[in-house]
Amino acid sequence: MIERLCIIGVGLIGGSLARALREAGYCKTVVGAGRSPENLRHAVELGVIDSFETDLARAVAGADMVLVAVPLGAMEAVFSAIRGSLADDAVLTDAGSAKVSVIEAARRAFGVVPANFVPGHPIAGIERSGVAAALPDLYRNRRVILTPLPETAADPVRRVRSMWEVAGAEVVDMEPVHHDEVLAATSHLPHVLAFTLVESLARLHDKAEIFEYAAGGFRDFTRIASSDPVMWRDICLANGAAIQQMIERFIDDLQVLDAAVEAGDGERLLQIFGDAKAARDRFVHE
Ligand code: NAD
Repeated sequence: MIERLCIIGVGLIGGSLARALREAGYCKTVVGAGRSPENLRHAVELGVIDSFETDLARAVAGADMVLVAVPLGAMEAVFSAIRGSLADDAVLTDAGSAKVSVIEAARRAFGVVPANFVPGHPIAGIERSGVAAALPDLYRNRRVILTPLPETAADPVRRVRSMWEVAGAEVVDMEPVHHDEVLAATSHLPHVLAFTLVESLARLHDKAEIFEYAAGGFRDFTRIASSDPVMWRDICLANGAAIQQMIERFIDDLQVLDAAVEAGDGERLLQIFGDAKAARDRFVHE
């Protein structure tokens, strides 16, 4: 049980965890914190949090669990604002989509990576953001990756693990650099491609016609280009090296495809598309 859960950044991710834990009766009180009193008031009206604070140091005082769910670019400022205000036995965790940058932000803000800080990342989300989009079942049957360091204490890891399990998630551990490489391939590259495709098509001079005739395939492929631009700017800045590696690899593969089209090499095209279909079918039916 959590006595007092503090969510800093009450949006889709933080709000959904609050909803899930409240539904499960797993926390006595949820206090929300952030910059915008209107957003936090709305979160109280929606029943996502019990109360709110805009002073982050006051918000974390007395909390036994603190989740930071702000965009990656705001992590360090949040850590600096709460430094010295956490209770000795409080657990601090985050939900950032890249892990090395958050760990480095914590190191800069606190001087060391605190033993009670458990870096985490729920592999769940939708293309909408904000507290109004928060869902109590967002984490059900989804994975949450924790990236504890050698200096992370065992009890905070156990408590964060239990919290996400109560929200319905399967929790796995991963090394932070490996997490960032895996996510660059499976999440960050697809988002970058979707954004770039839509932006590129939107710049065609006859774009009205292009979007008028776009069908289900376009909608499926580009759904994630409706995601929050600030969040994705921050992810690209935070995990730039790993994302660039994936982009470069992808450009090479696209050039192979381009050459096959230019050469009218149907066999090569069939091989690429056949391999892709087999891999996706395996993934979807797993
Ligand atoms: P969101 O926009 O829905 O919510 C973010 C909240 O943080 C907002 O309430 C905003 O007001 C607040 N905020 C922004 N800057 C702040 C600051 N400087 N101080 C205090 N509060 C601030 O975003 P989200 O989708 O909930 O994402 C939150 C975090 O979770 C991000 O780090 C993101 O990388 C990560 N994440 C997102 C997804 C996803 O699919 N949306 C999935 C996994 C992890």
